[in-house]
Amino acid sequence: MDALLACTKCDLKFDLDSDYPRCHACSEPLEVHYANIDKPQIGKGTSIFERYRDFLPFEKVNRAISMGEGNTPLIQSQIAGKTLGIGSLFYKNESINPTWSFKDRGTATGLAHALSLGFQKIGTVSTGNMATSVAAYGSRSRLETYILVSKGMPAEKLAPIAIYHPHLIVVNGDYGDLYYKSLEIGKTSGIYFINSDVPFRVEGSKAIAFEICEQLNFDMPDYVVVPVSAGGNLRGIVKGFEEFYQAGLVDRIPTMVAGQASGCSPVVNAFKRGENLISRVKEPHTIAHAIENPMPPSGNQMLRKLNKIGGLAVRVTDRQIIAAQHLMAREGLFVQPAAAVPLAVVQKLVAKRQIENDCSIVCVVTGGGLKYTAALDKFSFKPREIDIADIESEFERIACKKGSE
Ligand SMILES: *Cc1c(COP(=O)(O)O)cnc(C)c1O
Ligand SMILES: [Zn+2]
Repeated sequence: MDALLACTKCDLKFDLDSDYPRCHACSEPLEVHYANIDKPQIGKGTSIFERYRDFLPFEKVNRAISMGEGNTPLIQSQIAGKTLGIGSLFYKNESINPTWSFKDRGTATGLAHALSLGFQKIGTVSTGNMATSVAAYGSRSRLETYILVSKGMPAEKLAPIAIYHPHLIVVNGDYGDLYYKSLEIGKTSGIYFINSDVPFRVEGSKAIAFEICEQLNFDMPDYVVVPVSAGGNLRGIVKGFEEFYQAGLVDRIPTMVAGQASGCSPVVNAFKRGENLISRVKEPHTIAHAIENPMPPSGNQMLRKLNKIGGLAVRVTDRQIIAAQHLMAREGLFVQPAAAVPLAVVQKLVAKRQIENDCSIVCVVTGGGLKYTAALDKFSFKPREIDIADIESEFERIACKKGSE
């Protein structure tokens, strides 16, 4: 397939075999461009590599890489949608992935690229889900895997990475700098860093959009809401919708909504002020740790894209995020705080009457609730304790209470 890398800002072109993810001229992120794809089609098979082969830059499909990432369910909301009076509300449940977050999609496509270039070492800079994902896939492919985390990360978050036995390195210093440092280290040490917004991770996230189109029978939703941090996922989902549109598979692109937490919302801040460049957030703080990036590497590109396609950017408070997390649990979905941000955003947009009631919305639910159980401290529940001898009377009591409700 004819593809190359192009700068998202100045359009400078680079070879597809380049493993450096940013532009040498303006340092903005690169993305994969396809030269005149002739009527690309959805293929057969269940893996994203097989189904979306025409939309991915891989000559061969390497089955050994895949752990069945993607193919996640799109579930219709039973409670929140009705409560909010929305026509149709769906959750794209990414917590079904092999390491319980959408990151596995981009890890698989990033890994495919690294292997096609002959790399024996991979790595990432992450505070959580991406580290877990890269460590798991690296271990499976028997590659030397380097995970750089910033100091101060709680043990609760380190153990789920360490279980896969990567080279786990705790670095003291600025997390944003670490992203750029890792790219330099990668060049000198022969490590392919599959960081958050590298072009081949973005290619993996496209399949979220492809699957949504297929699951809705190519009847486009009005809105797709995505919690954003580095920006790789939003970029991928938009790119997916655009490529299906260009292929003539869908007749429009949904309104894209980027969701952030009030305690760390560099994209929303710049978007609201009409600025072209994001500014670093000082002292970021939110319960949604997975999206707490004060200076996202694809921040400027998200702004360019949202402005170009008429998207929205909305911030929600930790209190609204926790309320949305509980509402989703009432419908059977236990997700991590970052993954509850889309529903919190929808609630806010409905309350402010910024979206129509008869619309259809897809919330991209990025990761599972067991990822971050410390967030449950905010939730107090006291189970009733009884003696086994009292079990009959206890159930009578519950039945009585029910009857009198
Ligand atoms: C990584 C992550 C995000 C943010 O994705 P980006 O590509 O960094 O914008 C959102 N939610 C969860 C659960 C994540 O792990
Ligand atoms: Zn450039």
